[in-house]
This record gives sequence, C-alpha cells and structure tokens, in this order.
Amino acid sequence: TTEPAVGSRTPVLALDNIRHAYGRHTALENINLEMHPGEVVCLLGPSGCGKTTLLRIVAGLEVLQHGSLALNGKNVGARGKAHVPPEKRNVGLAFQDSALFPHLTVLENITFGLKALPGRQRRRRAMEMLEQLGMTAYADSYPHTLSGGQQQRIALARALAPEPQLMLLDEPFSSLDARLRDRIRDDTLHLLKKVGAGALLVTHDPEEAMFMADRIALMHEGHILQMGTPRELYCAPQHPFVVTFFGEVNTLEGEVQHGAVATPVGSVAAPGLAEGCRVQVMIRPEALRIVELDEPALHKHSHIIMAKLLGRTSLLHICAHGNDGREAHLHARVPGVFLPADGQPVSIYLDPSQVFVFPLDPEASRA
Ligand code: ATP
Repeated sequence: TTEPAVGSRTPVLALDNIRHAYGRHTALENINLEMHPGEVVCLLGPSGCGKTTLLRIVAGLEVLQHGSLALNGKNVGARGKAHVPPEKRNVGLAFQDSALFPHLTVLENITFGLKALPGRQRRRRAMEMLEQLGMTAYADSYPHTLSGGQQQRIALARALAPEPQLMLLDEPFSSLDARLRDRIRDDTLHLLKKVGAGALLVTHDPEEAMFMADRIALMHEGHILQMGTPRELYCAPQHPFVVTFFGEVNTLEGEVQHGAVATPVGSVAAPGLAEGCRVQVMIRPEALRIVELDEPALHKHSHIIMAKLLGRTSLLHICAHGNDGREAHLHARVPGVFLPADGQPVSIYLDPSQVFVFPLDPEASRA
C-alpha cells in the first residue's frame, strides 16, 4: 500500500481538503497545504483558530476525518485507509510540553529515539547533535540540572536526531523568557537549515513566524486565510484580518471616486475596485510621515494631540483635517525620539506601501 517518494520534488507534506470537527464544532475547514523538502512553514493565528488541531492531525495524534494527508508522497491518512500511528510517520515531534525523561541523562534522552541504529552509531549520532548545539559538556548531566533553554535545545536535539524529513513544533519557545527565546529561535532555525529538515511550526506570534518561516499560513476560524512568504503577507495582505494581525492599524471608511479614495490624510489609490464602492482604508502607524510646521497655522492644519516616547519608537496621536473639512484621529509611529508639543501644527504624508484598501462588502466590489 506504500506509494514510494518519486524524486526530490515530492512534497514532504501534502494536505488536501482537510476538515475536522469536535462534535458539532468545526475546528478546520478546507485546509490545503504543500510543503517542499527543507521548507519551514509556520501556522500562524490567534488562539482557537485550529493550529494545534492541524498539527496533531499531521502527527497522527488525531484521526483524519475528511480529506487526505500524504507524507513524502505516501498517503498516511485518507478515508477508508488505515490510520498510520505517530511513531510510524517519520516525523519529529517537539511540543510545548514535550518534557525530557528526568531519569535519563542528556545523552540517553537523545539516543532514546534512535533504537533503529546499532549502539555505537546511536551514541555517535547523539554526540553529533550535541556538538551542533554546543552542548557536548552536558552529555552526562540530568535534565533537572539544566536551564529551561538548555532543556528546550535537548528536546529539539532528541526530536531531530532520527533525521525526520519533517519536524512538527507546537509553540516550542513559549515557555522561555524573551531574551532566551530569541537565542533558541536562532539556534533552532540554524539547526533545521543545517540538517535540511522541513518543519511545520505553530505560533500565535507574528514576529516569530516572520523570523522562522519560509512561508506562513495565516489561519482564522479554522481556515487558511492567506499563504505566502513573510514579505507577501506583510506587504500584500489579501484580507483585513491579515493586516490587523501584524499590529495595530488606523482604519478609515470612504468611497471609491475616480479609482481613488479621499481621506483626511490624502488620496489613496483603489485599483480594481468599482466606482462608488464603500471601502475601509487601513493605514499602518508606520505609514504616516510627520513634518512639523514652523508657520503659525493660517488655516486649519493637522495637529498633534499627544506624543509619547516608547523607546525605539515614538507614538503620536494626530488630528488630521481633510480638504473637505472632515477630520480623523490617527496613530503614527516614528523611529527614535520625536516629541512635538501638544497642539503643534503638522503636515502628514502617507507611505502608500503601508496603506491597504478593502471593500466593506466584498460581494459587490470588483470593477
Ligand atoms: P491555541 O493557540 O489556543 O492552542 P489553536 O489555534 O491551536 O489555539 P486548537 O487547539 O486547534 O486551536 O482548537 C481549535 C478549536 O477546536 C477551538 O475552538 C477549541 O476549543 C476546539 N478544540 C480543540 N481541541 C478540542 C477537543 N479535544 N475537544 C473539543 N474541542 C476542541
């Protein structure tokens, strides 16, 4: 019943039309995903969107209910096919709570998953893994004598040692404090790329996904809303939720006139949208360039309501006055220390690459 992998183009993972329900609650709907060998893909989304469920299905911890699932071209889950258990899927699991065995040393923990190899090779392979992580000195230590970050690295080494084609990682860094997390993320990515292992990684942290992923699948309420490189998701979001998930935005409403939308901070192009179409204009705080005006305002200008230094950036609350008399309150974020006085008149320029227009009613919108 095994269909052998054909060449290196065979996806390490292919999901086709996966659906999953817990009782009457649908947790996943119409999930399609293909991963190339060595690729790191992040499942990104808010709590409850179905990330963990999807990872558990791939791992074989949940029985597939609908659709099909192939690992290296071999169908391991499809209607009418027998369920292939996790240990027979050649995937490495590193979940948030995948604890080390406390009664085994670091070396023994890593060799544990290498039962298929003869004893000497097992030891050599485990020592190689420790070397790559710079942790050979801890081979004979017991887990409780290691820091959280060290334990995390050993758990990763244990999962990677059998050289799985695919690693499944569920929030593997969430129990670490911020500084350590950055380090371990770095180490993990380095190690994955070095051994050429593909990884499917669950996270709710957009920055973590941007850092780790070759491609991100952004999930929302059981669906994949958009799949693409970090740059594609950030610079060409296909859905308002994709914009808001990467951080706070200013949202204004307007109407398409002559292919553009007038806002109190200038005209915004709306290509492909029908005339008269009602839209929301999403403006990232980074999109606003602020210039202080020396002249006392002769006519109504935009002005600063409040400026706050946040550290690496300054946050400005601005009242913008449009030519048509409309005004809007906006948040701007500028690098470094920029603290104009309250009431200071300003000019505002928009960086169009950080502004996105979406129809309020997607049904009746296309030009
Ligand atoms: P989180 O980031 O909080 O872990 P998630 O995106 O991983 O969230 P899942 O854990 O996959 O989401 O859950 C998806 C939905 O399915 C949620 O509404 C959840 O309440 C529900 N769910 C998950 N596991 C079960 C279960 N064993 N029984 C019933 N409902 C479940």
